Order: sequence, then structure tokens, then C-alpha cells
Amino acid sequence: MSETRKTIENVPCTFCGCLCDDLIIEIEDGQIVKNTNGCAISKEKLLGCNENRLLQPLINGSPVSLDDAIQHVAEIIASSRRLLIYGLSSTENDAHREAYKIAELVRGVVDNTSSVCHGPTILGVQSSGEPNAMLAEVRNRSDLIIYWGSNPAAAHPRHIPRYIKKEGEYIKDPKEDREIWLVDIRRTTTARMVNKFIQINPASDLEVLLTLRALVRGHVLDVDEVGGLKIDQLKEMAEHMKSAKYGTLFFGLGLTQSRGSHRNIDAAIRLIQDLSAHTKWTMMPMRGHYNVAGANKTSTWMTGYPYAVDYARGYPRYQPGEYTAVDILANGEADALLNIASDPVAHFPIDAVEHIKKIPVINIDPKINMTSKLAEVNIPSAIAGIECDGAATRMDGLPIYLKKVIDPPEGILPDREILRMIYNSLMKVLKK
Ligand code: SF4
Repeated sequence: MSETRKTIENVPCTFCGCLCDDLIIEIEDGQIVKNTNGCAISKEKLLGCNENRLLQPLINGSPVSLDDAIQHVAEIIASSRRLLIYGLSSTENDAHREAYKIAELVRGVVDNTSSVCHGPTILGVQSSGEPNAMLAEVRNRSDLIIYWGSNPAAAHPRHIPRYIKKEGEYIKDPKEDREIWLVDIRRTTTARMVNKFIQINPASDLEVLLTLRALVRGHVLDVDEVGGLKIDQLKEMAEHMKSAKYGTLFFGLGLTQSRGSHRNIDAAIRLIQDLSAHTKWTMMPMRGHYNVAGANKTSTWMTGYPYAVDYARGYPRYQPGEYTAVDILANGEADALLNIASDPVAHFPIDAVEHIKKIPVINIDPKINMTSKLAEVNIPSAIAGIECDGAATRMDGLPIYLKKVIDPPEGILPDREILRMIYNSLMKVLKK
């Protein structure tokens, strides 16, 4: 074995919202050579961390020094009237803090990727409450698990093996003591891992949830079928849910981004509240990016609001649908974009992308992506949780401390330091 080989245990995986913090990473000659415990996505992320890297600051595709890039960024931001800062969910919490400081300084808008994933979850929680739990509690106690509009086998590969098909304090044999259901509009790969797959019609989540609520509350319904399910099947579901000792509903974008949007979440929360009149039920969003829950938390600490924050009046205001990134872009409002650790060009609707093409884009990211191809300025950054430390928030709200396991490529800094440099440079430009 090489003398330079070393092993680091309990490393958190910075890919999905599970933030699995039990990876064993082996390093040889400064490179990651083995990832034990990580799923296939995690192995690809860590072992392939050098692939497709941005390695030098670029202005219009030409290499420049970091100082020149920062100066150019400060000039773009200083001359903008409606800066949009976007992304943040794939970087650590200290970087978020620096981004909010820039937004406040120039009276810009700051939004994170939750506006295109679990934003409706936040709206539902704001109107109806948050019947949340910790993943460890679910593993220890939950005897009925429902995944709704979520495909963890593909998006959160260790969610089921690490928390659900594992024994817990009161679940001695998960095969016997715990039941898993999947509610979705199509049979996904997760269907192979559950006890019961319940297929509903597309866009019928709201009516199915409201029907379950009515049945749990004891109402008699004069219908034969709702959302593709026979009323007897729905009655059986409601009775089974009432008889669980501890139920948990995990839900994904199939619920937040289908017809009904935040009303679906509102209905799901009310269903959990109704069930809790009979037994114990909790629910949890299957957060995608590893620190999207952290982006909501840091935004709330710093601005009072979880996403879609506008500083135009000098103080933060919150208006999803108006100050959300897609809307600000599609309405042609933003005149500069500072993108941090995300790829809006790959994921936003065409109207928003068409506007991105018209404005100066500053892109801070470790990797080449579709946004970097359009950016006027690219600044490469270290990968949080691999090349720099920090903190992030798991899908259940638990803070997890990220480890630096290898050095970043030479001259490449963490997002938080790049953003701090931009802030300092911006202060000088604005004082001139
Ligand atoms: S489930 Fe998610 S956090 Fe866990 S190892 Fe896989 S990608 Fe990483």
C-alpha cells in the first residue's frame, strides 16, 4: 500500500438530501480512490470529482487571473439595477451568508433552487404547519411508510436501505414490522422495493388526498371512484393508515409540481393532522439537492424568508411567483445573474433561459455545465464536502458538518471565499 494512502471515516456525501454521513473514503496521492458505503451516485460524484472541471477564471471564454475576474464581477454587479442571485442548494451554509450580504448591498433578489422543487411544500407548511420528524425517529418507530410522488430508488438510493429496510428500536424485523407503500402515477423502480404500489391518475393527487381526509374523518362519500382508485380501496387505505402505530409520509416533486401544487401539500398536512387524532403520523419532503433544506434555513435566518427574497426597498420582502428566479427572468426583470452552484440554463423553462442569454451571467461552480457555457464570467470553486468543509442541512432539518477530504486544484477557493472577495471588491467599486 502506498505510504500516502489514508482513510477518512464518517464522511458526509454531498449529493442528495439524505446527506449520508457514513462514507469511508480512501485517498491516495491526494486523490479519492475508494468510496465505501456510498451509493452509485455517490461513488460517481466522489471518484469523478476531477472530471469536467472548470480550472481557471474566464471572462468571455478567455483565461484571466482571479483578481481580474473578481474586479469584472464587481463592475457588472455595481452597474446592474436588478441583480438576481440564484442557486445555493449545492454549496454550504457559509457561502449562503455571503450571497445574502451581496443581495442586501445592491438591493438585489436572492432565490434558491427550492423555488423549482419544494417551494410549494414551504407554502403548504406556512399555511398549515409542519408535522415533521427526524429520520432516526422514523427508522426507530414507523410501522407504515408511504412514499407519494417520489422515486427514492433513483433519486435517493440509500433512503430505503438506510432508514426504512433497517431495524430500529421498536422495529425489530423491518420485513415483518414495517409496511411500505408507494403512491404514484406510474410504476417506477421504487415499486419493486415496496409492499404495495397504488397507482393514481395523473394530476389527481389533491382529490385523492381530500377523499382520504374525508374517510379518515368518518364521512360517507357517494362516489364509486376517485383518481383512478375504487372507493373501497380508498376506505381500506384510510382504515389501514388509522391503525398504524406510527405512520410517515415521504413526498416528492410528484406532489409539489403536479396540478394542485401547494394545495396538495396543504391537503397532505391536513390529512396527517386528521390521522394524528387517531394515532401518530408525520411527514417529510424528500429534498433533492444536499443542502436545499440548508438554503431555506440560512435564507430564513438572514432575511426572515426561506426563498424568493427581494431587497429592492432596502429591506427583505417575500413573494413566491414574483421574486422567484424563473419569474424574475421570464418577466425580463433581472439585468444580471449571479449563479452559485446550480445550472439554471439546463433546468429552467425556455422563457427564463432566453432572458439569461440577454444579460451578463456570473457563474461560480466547480464544473463545466450549460450555464457556464453562456456565462460572461466563470469562476471555478472548490467542491463543498470534498475540497472544503462547511455545514449543510439534511432533509429532516439535522445540521451535518461537511469534511474536507482532499485539496482543491491549485488556486481554487471555496464559494464562501470567492463571494467574500466579490463583496469586498463591490464595496470599493460602489464607493468610487
Ligand atoms: S443516498 Fe444520496 S446522500 Fe446517500 S450516498 Fe447516495 S447520493 Fe449520497
